[in-house]
Amino acid sequence: MADCEICGKSSIVLNEIIIDSAHFSVCSACRNLGPVVQKAAIASRPKIAPSTPYIISPEPEFDITIEYPNLIRNSRVKHNMSQKDLAKMLAEKESVIHRLETGKLNPSLSLARKMERFLGIKLVEKEE
Ligand SMILES: [Zn+2]
Repeated sequence: MADCEICGKSSIVLNEIIIDSAHFSVCSACRNLGPVVQKAAIASRPKIAPSTPYIISPEPEFDITIEYPNLIRNSRVKHNMSQKDLAKMLAEKESVIHRLETGKLNPSLSLARKMERFLGIKLVEKEE
């Protein structure tokens, strides 16, 4: 048993209606006061996505030093290489090197490791 929210009468079956965009649970005598909310419409309301964690990347956690654009560029210049040379050596596109050196692209762990090896610099700060 529940009470009608309009007249207060106890009723076994309550209907959900809308009055002034508010929902009321009402008895059958009061259900004509507003449009009845269709049960099917309630069921098809978009549900909030479940909060199951979504694994974005299989890569282990790591931090690339924020100094990486300068480190890469300085080291490349020191080795007397053009961006094109370095790109070739790393088997990457020249645009990738350019974006790395301007800080527009965070290197992946494998690319960072490759550059550490080729340039003799330290880019990865933490790896778990
Ligand atoms: Zn009622």
